[in-house]
Amino acid sequence: MQHDQSQTTSLFERDARVIANIARLRFNPLSLTGGRGCTLIEEGGREILDLSGSAGSASLGYSHPAVVEAAGRALGDMAGASLLLYPNAPAVALAERLLEVTPGDGERRVWFGHSGSDANDCAVRVARAATGRQRFISFIGSYHGNVSGSMAVSGHTAMTHTLPQAGLVLLPYPDPYRPRFSAEAVLDLLDYQFATTCPPEQVAAVFIEPLMSDGGLIVPPPGFLAALADRCQRHGILVVVDEVKVGVGRSGLLHCFQHEGLAPDMVVLGKGLGGGLPLSAVIGPARLMDHAGAFALQTTAGNPVCTAAGLAVLDTIVTDKLDAHAARLGAAFAEGLRGLAERHAVIGDVRGRGLAIGVELISDRESRAPVDPSFTAKVIYRAWELGVSFSYVGLSANVLEFTPPLILSEAEMRAGLSVIDQALGEVVEGKVSDEAVAPFMMW
Ligand SMILES: *Cc1c(COP(=O)(O)O)cnc(C)c1O
Repeated sequence: MQHDQSQTTSLFERDARVIANIARLRFNPLSLTGGRGCTLIEEGGREILDLSGSAGSASLGYSHPAVVEAAGRALGDMAGASLLLYPNAPAVALAERLLEVTPGDGERRVWFGHSGSDANDCAVRVARAATGRQRFISFIGSYHGNVSGSMAVSGHTAMTHTLPQAGLVLLPYPDPYRPRFSAEAVLDLLDYQFATTCPPEQVAAVFIEPLMSDGGLIVPPPGFLAALADRCQRHGILVVVDEVKVGVGRSGLLHCFQHEGLAPDMVVLGKGLGGGLPLSAVIGPARLMDHAGAFALQTTAGNPVCTAAGLAVLDTIVTDKLDAHAARLGAAFAEGLRGLAERHAVIGDVRGRGLAIGVELISDRESRAPVDPSFTAKVIYRAWELGVSFSYVGLSANVLEFTPPLILSEAEMRAGLSVIDQALGEVVEGKVSDEAVAPFMMW
């Protein structure tokens, strides 16, 4: 009989033995046995406040009654497993609801997938096939997914192991804290590309994160994205807005692109839409989404369990006004973090929208030089030791990222702030060793 490793070995060690390294990002030693609300239960029973919300997918936290009820009901009388083959009520109702709450003109359609990656992949393929154009524009630092097509239009440094698609134009994303490329300079570069090596009539679509997430939680300068979208749409270039991380209420509005005054051709949703279950969507005009039959098929996409959960998530966010809650609580959270910056010189910038907040760590306020990535990892590690979990983003691995469940309470937010305060101070004092964080320097 096989030896039962679960008796003697930690979940963390067992994970490292059997789960493919290519599929793992581990920012701290947290291993989970349960979760409720904004609290995760780690192996051994300790409660951890989750300020990451599983990278934003746990939009309603864990085991939210509305999601449990809706998904449980769908699971208990399962209307097939495939929207590909038969309509099911939750999928059709969720599509109807998404069209109601997403601004846009004319006849539109919804495509369902399992992840942000497959949804952006679908948008790439539809844009190319429906326009007959082959090229794309996106941003340095952008993360649109981890399957071939969505990777190929991404510009994140974590993806340099795979070449982008031929003809991709990568623009700098203007960063108000690091004004190396101003909004004007980027628009000028785009005009220059159009006038020279990238004729606009060759470009199918531009992929935009309305708030750059994995590239460093960067809020674009006011008016920049609208000017960019206008330049593209004038040339018949489709504007695809990737709302996967910051959409569905997180930014303080239901859609983050609404802060920017954009009228996107396609809207891509993921992560928070499923409340932790695999669910993504592309919303676009019928002329694109109906351009061919049987073009973007995945057997279990739009299954009744995930779409019932999605419908419960969307209804809860709208009914409980969690977008407005995210705006209010996020502003208070950001203000608290700015307060910490008065005592911690390592905080260079605090920014974001709603409950998508980034804290950029620097070694020197004059030069704004990023901290060493090990410093960031130590802050994450110490915060975990103190009972709070979050992770980091940014091309220099120096931006703490907070994307908590939208149900986060004021008291939880204050408790989180106090741990962040303590962790920053204690890492500066040298309380965490390089060895402790060596396994957690991820990207
Ligand atoms: C996470 C993310 C994706 C990819 O979503 P997955 O569900 O991981 O496939 C795409 N775009 C953005 C902006 C993201 O943050």
